[in-house]
Amino acid sequence: MPANSTQLPETLETLPLTKLNGVGTRMAATLEKIGLHNLQDILFHLPLRYLDRTRITPIGQLQLNTSVVIQGQVLRSQVMMGKRRSLVVQLEDDTGSTCLRFYHFSGQQKDKLQPGTLLRCYGDPRLGSSGLEFYHPEYELVDNRQPSPIATTLTPVYGLTDGISQQRMRKLVTQAVELLQAQTPDEYLPAEINRDFGSASLAQALTYVHQPPADAPVQQLLNGTHPLQQRLAFEELLAHFLVRRQIRAEAQQHLGPQLQSGAAQVKSFVASLPFTPTKAQQRVFKEIAADLLKPVPMLRMVQGDVGSGKTLVAALAAIKCAASGYQVAIVAPTEILAEQHFRNFSEWLTPLGFEIAWLVGKLGAAKRRDTLAHIASGTAQVIVGTHALFQEDVDFANLGLAVIDEQHRFGVHQRLTLRQKNSRNETPHQLVMTATPIPRTLAMTAFAELDYSVIDELPPGRTPINTVLLSQSKRAQIIERIRAACGEGRQAYWVCTLVEDSETLAAANAEETAQLLRESLPELTIGLVHGRLKASEKEAVMAEFKAAQSQLLVATTVIEVGVDVPNASLMIIENPERLGLAQLHQLRGRVGRGAIASHCVLLYGAKLSQQARTRLQVMRDTSDGFVIAEEDLALRGPGELLGTRQAGEMSYRVADSQRDEALLPRVNQLGLILLEHQPTVVAKLIARWIGARRSYAHV
Ligand code: ADP
Ligand code: MG
Repeated sequence: MPANSTQLPETLETLPLTKLNGVGTRMAATLEKIGLHNLQDILFHLPLRYLDRTRITPIGQLQLNTSVVIQGQVLRSQVMMGKRRSLVVQLEDDTGSTCLRFYHFSGQQKDKLQPGTLLRCYGDPRLGSSGLEFYHPEYELVDNRQPSPIATTLTPVYGLTDGISQQRMRKLVTQAVELLQAQTPDEYLPAEINRDFGSASLAQALTYVHQPPADAPVQQLLNGTHPLQQRLAFEELLAHFLVRRQIRAEAQQHLGPQLQSGAAQVKSFVASLPFTPTKAQQRVFKEIAADLLKPVPMLRMVQGDVGSGKTLVAALAAIKCAASGYQVAIVAPTEILAEQHFRNFSEWLTPLGFEIAWLVGKLGAAKRRDTLAHIASGTAQVIVGTHALFQEDVDFANLGLAVIDEQHRFGVHQRLTLRQKNSRNETPHQLVMTATPIPRTLAMTAFAELDYSVIDELPPGRTPINTVLLSQSKRAQIIERIRAACGEGRQAYWVCTLVEDSETLAAANAEETAQLLRESLPELTIGLVHGRLKASEKEAVMAEFKAAQSQLLVATTVIEVGVDVPNASLMIIENPERLGLAQLHQLRGRVGRGAIASHCVLLYGAKLSQQARTRLQVMRDTSDGFVIAEEDLALRGPGELLGTRQAGEMSYRVADSQRDEALLPRVNQLGLILLEHQPTVVAKLIARWIGARRSYAHV
């Protein structure tokens, strides 16, 4: 600390929000709900994204899913009664017309939108019944004589909570940025970091990102790749790396059960398998077994492509644990996956004399009570379940190992609750498994609390999935293909994709598709799953498909994770250009699980950009998850849709661990130095970037 710090007690971290005009105790309390406690927090509440409202786009030049400002006159405005009552406003300029659609609207709103009214409207057009349409756009009435000026800089969009509007938040940030002139935030990083990113100071980077100047490179900012954004992203990635290393260090203070037995059971189990574990499976199991021997809780991630056989590795670890007198919990993200694991583990481990139990939300009360008793007494040795296992009333006698499958579906917080489920004074070992291809540097930084193993080999003898690209005009031909495949006793998936943020539209689209397919294929039983169904309904449809009671399953991308139906050999993905390659790869992994040759048809929309075509060709040409992940990064350009973001309590403000992957080696390097030599800086960086969210991550 500089010697004069006692003379300057007012730092951004100690200045309360009430210093800002218009913030009283009530507003301050509202802001606290999203972790904003002081002026530093406001300054580091960075834009989630930007809107480019600097130009008005002619209606005749609208493009699907591209955010724009349009301005025109209301031609007609009427309430339509269709499936859902909606207000439809037709807007026209010199170049064309478009529809605005509102499902929620007030009478007053409707009255203001009279024909002839001049309207400025912000949004991104989607495909609707009349062509490109705007759903619930933000809009303002424009005074013909005195039109309000159009924005000259990019408009930031901030994360909000109930009780504060976007406009209000923008004003608060603007005030905080003004204060920056007098009160600059402390620089915690070595000076060459600013220099290398072309940043004069942290204050400059913050100001730029909140208030990009009029001549700022728009596309760079929208992509988050501007050097000043990268300067901030670097510091944020560093803070996350540091906190994860702290979590790890704390975890290693705990005592882990030493699991020494089970070698004989592992051996006889492997001998009983109809196949030999791959070299990669053997290597990864060895790494795990070495961890289990130590009196320190294991924290290890196993990454392995879809179908690489992660379940078997988990089973081997489970055998060691159960044979050493401890319980094992296997947590899957859905009931259908839990059931699948339960069947596998029962088949594999019951012959060794272990008792397997399963716990999911849908168990009846009596069965549940019974199972809980077995878990608490320790008679149940391997317990397979969903997040139901995280619940408070689940008491383990002596949990020794928790295996979390498809870990990206769970937050750090959830994972950690399992740690407290050992009644002895020990912390269970943890194994998290994921099929998301994560390059090593990324894993070592973004999941720095975990050790990392990779199963980089598929079992031999898989028939590769034959992937083809076909245009929608070949739809009839595809339907015949489904008829033929199902006629031979096979099953097929039909996956509907829609823009990510509208589960309602996606569901409606899947329903419509299922209806059309039922008409074309009356001899088949066709199931339908989408995110609007209740979990129990979804499970029922999936179970029916697994049992081959339905032959064709129409689904939104909800089927992405781990479902294993070896008899399904055909997958149609409609409008695959809307998904990220990694997601397509996960989806495609649902077929090709049996010995029969499988096919994946990428049924693209009418207009496919050259870039989208190149991406889809990658899918056609390779089935290696790592290659696909890398191509995805390299090809993802402006305007292309990204796959879903990593969810979790500790999400990033400016950084994107994939996009900013190139920063990670340096983050890692500097992080280790700071941990060793500058604990105060470590604490300050964590407070700045993670703040109260740190408490989620206690161990
Ligand atoms: P994932 O890694 O996607 O979870 P699974 O564990 O579901 O993959 O394994 C996919 C299939 O491969 C399963 O049917 C499993 O029994 C089989 N399998 C696993 N390991 C091997 C192996 N070494 N040789 C042959 N088949 C294997
Ligand atoms: Mg799996």
